[in-house]
Amino acid sequence: MAGILERAFSSRGGQAVAARLGLPEPPVLRRGRTLPEGPIVAAALAGSSLVPDTLALLGLAAEPALLDDGPEPPAYPGRIGAVVVDARGLGRIEQLEGLRAALRPALRALEASGRVIVVADAEATGLEASAVLQALDGITRTVGKELRRGATANLVRVTPGVAPDDVASTLSFLLEGRSAFVDGQSWTVSARAAAVEASAMASPVAAQRPRDGREGLPAPLDGRIVVVTGAARGIGAQIATVAARDGAIVVCVDMPAAGEALAALANGLHATALQLDITAPDAGERIAAHVISRYGAGAQIHGIVHNAGITRDKLLVNTDAQRWAQVLQVNLAAQLRINPVLLDGRPGGLADAGRIVGVASTSGIAGNRGQANYAASKAGVAGLVRAMAPDLSGRGITVNAVAPGFIETDMTAKIPFVQREVFRRTNSLGQGGQPVDVAETICWFLDPASGGVSGQVVRVCGQNLVGQ
Ligand code: NAD
Repeated sequence: MAGILERAFSSRGGQAVAARLGLPEPPVLRRGRTLPEGPIVAAALAGSSLVPDTLALLGLAAEPALLDDGPEPPAYPGRIGAVVVDARGLGRIEQLEGLRAALRPALRALEASGRVIVVADAEATGLEASAVLQALDGITRTVGKELRRGATANLVRVTPGVAPDDVASTLSFLLEGRSAFVDGQSWTVSARAAAVEASAMASPVAAQRPRDGREGLPAPLDGRIVVVTGAARGIGAQIATVAARDGAIVVCVDMPAAGEALAALANGLHATALQLDITAPDAGERIAAHVISRYGAGAQIHGIVHNAGITRDKLLVNTDAQRWAQVLQVNLAAQLRINPVLLDGRPGGLADAGRIVGVASTSGIAGNRGQANYAASKAGVAGLVRAMAPDLSGRGITVNAVAPGFIETDMTAKIPFVQREVFRRTNSLGQGGQPVDVAETICWFLDPASGGVSGQVVRVCGQNLVGQ
């Protein structure tokens, strides 16, 4: 039945019915390592040069944003690609007018898949300044909901003393199509532990992954070992693929039952496959042993992505102890066992300035009917990365999580069609996300230049209506 309905909706006639029902055609999102077409315009409400200096590091230039100071806003001569407003240093409610004045003309001229980026302080002193800081969040999220044609709005909070090279990876991610499904979000960027990073070993691997004619493209993970669990299909397969695109040497981990798909993926990516149930008591030791046996005694991991996950959905009143435990074991407890092993300094473990990435879910943020076990595990992942990050900052290791919303995979194909269509439509971009959207966000966390981003949970949900 679901298949028939689905075909009906995707046929030309079905699309007409969808349009008559008031369901708009979802925009095609700009994806990948692509910049906006039109110019980037920027305004600094308190006069700082952080944004232009960061753009200059990225080889980009910003034009001054037009400001609305009359009855009709000034018009840009053509479409603009992005507007970046540095709204740090605001302490009074009237100063929010500066943001309105910069955004109004820009929103009228923003191209399809354009970008609104607001840069704010991470902390404020005093009541009015604290209120103003939170107001910036409300404005940005609202703009995200008002934008059309695949454009997004996000807020970047920066701690005092951040330098352009701390912010560059985040700004580059947000401007590029890599952030296509990240909308209405905010996260904090701090100063990187540059000394630790400089002295850290960058996963010395004897044979670097062939680049397959991809010379010229950025390869921030070049020669670094990245372990991806649950890599045989879905989001995990895309994480492995995008990490390999970015130059990583990938270790693809999945259940022995998925061995065939795992081997096929690993072969195509010049990666290695490790058949492993991550709930095995010695899973961490086996990952480290695989790394040494395949890449040499001195090899260390740059990043581990805890992507493997399962659902066993039932209302809590119908959930038995087995369903409860299975989900918590795979989605949460396995990470708690594997991380300390990889962090204890052993050969084949995580290098200093390494990266740990968890995969949470919007179900863990907003709750979701029938998913008490899953929501518990995914909220637990968010709690885990927040708790681990401060302890590991001295080693330059970052710990973050993505929280995907509705992503089109085998896991979500099990959801009944009508409910699936509702999930697809109830976000600001009017569609489900693609596995590559989650993968791109994870690879931005993995980037050695993202050392200032730690303890963060970033939703990849197209600004889904549920949750924060
Ligand atoms: P999927 O079911 O398509 O793939 C999950 C993979 O994990 C499979 O290859 C499976 O074999 C593997 N796996 C399961 N248990 C394992 C174990 N014990 N050891 C090793 N591997 C194991 O799922 P997906 O949709 O690609 O989801 C990937 C991750 O993203 C999961 O953690 C999931 O909870 C999360 N997520 C997905 C969505 C979505 O909309 N698809 C939304 C939020 C979060």
